Amino acid sequence: MRAPSLIVETSATTSVFIEESTLPKAAKISTTSAVVAAKSAAAAVAAKSLVIPAAAGASLFETSNRVAGDTLLKIREDLGECTRCKLHKTRNKIVFGDGSAKAQLVFVGEGPGADEDAQGLPFVGRAGKLLTQMIEAMGLQRGDVYICNVVKCRPPGNRQPEKDEVDACSPYLFRQLDALQPKAIVCLGATAAQTLLQTNRSISQFRGQWLDFRGFKMMPTYHPAYLLRNPAAKGDVWKDLQKVMAELGLEVKKNKAK
Ligand code: URA
Repeated sequence: MRAPSLIVETSATTSVFIEESTLPKAAKISTTSAVVAAKSAAAAVAAKSLVIPAAAGASLFETSNRVAGDTLLKIREDLGECTRCKLHKTRNKIVFGDGSAKAQLVFVGEGPGADEDAQGLPFVGRAGKLLTQMIEAMGLQRGDVYICNVVKCRPPGNRQPEKDEVDACSPYLFRQLDALQPKAIVCLGATAAQTLLQTNRSISQFRGQWLDFRGFKMMPTYHPAYLLRNPAAKGDVWKDLQKVMAELGLEVKKNKAK
């Protein structure tokens, strides 16, 4: 991991993740210091973890197999040229996931859009560019983290994935998360958070709270596509990402360095 870069970038070529003036004072990070543990902040965050009641009946967590010695490569091989749900009929490319197999931080989105379907890579369209800015604002690069989705094939017209599609695909996501063993998972939007938590509750009820997914720390936040439509929500997302930074030992400073 490299030292954090500016969260507020004003060059003509790079758009900003968030305007400095909209940030709470404590939300501004240093450009000068490298990664430093922020354990007390992480402990305070952990103490506020919220308990979401489990869904009735056997959860997907219980029914999906954990595979001993699982690796991303093996999971990709097992997925193959998947035809397990109807999304395969309209997809161009399977979007398995992208990033470091040693990532401490995983971002989980909903499902590929048109750009992702064409390239076979997650978050490469407009929302993806914003996600990249968010990652860089945390002082990381895309290659430091792992990015994947609940479903690996594009739902037609970018509709939400349906239950049978999520049920068919999410065991592969769970295996990816188990194989990666990240320190933190950020769920981008309701579909990702609801799938991991097995809940239908609205994301606004638990966004910004540390939650548990199979013993992993999970932070639900808004989807970058939502932020494109509602830029005012960027401040909330930045607060959530700061909690993640504290958990990972990424320095969060009061004042932005010059
Ligand atoms: N939105 C998502 O949820 N995932 C992608 O990969 C792209 C856009």
